[in-house]
Amino acid sequence: MKTCYFCKGKVTEKRIRHVHHWGNDIVVFENVPAEVCQQCGEVYFAPEVLEMMDKATLKKQKPDKTLKVPVFSLP
Ligand SMILES: [Zn+2]
Repeated sequence: MKTCYFCKGKVTEKRIRHVHHWGNDIVVFENVPAEVCQQCGEVYFAPEVLEMMDKATLKKQKPDKTLKVPVFSLP
């Protein structure tokens, strides 16, 4: 993919941090190969990358590290 589906901006390959929402859980993936639009910031993942993230989440694979995330609930 060379241009953005939404804005036709230029798309470049990058390694990014991706926050994956899984029901009530949040899983963070780092060093994820993705294509990012330089104009609107839309992120595209290859199908095999999405599959790898789904598998890691489903199998509850042992993470490389665990982050502590502060949670605020608004009144
Ligand atoms: Zn775009």
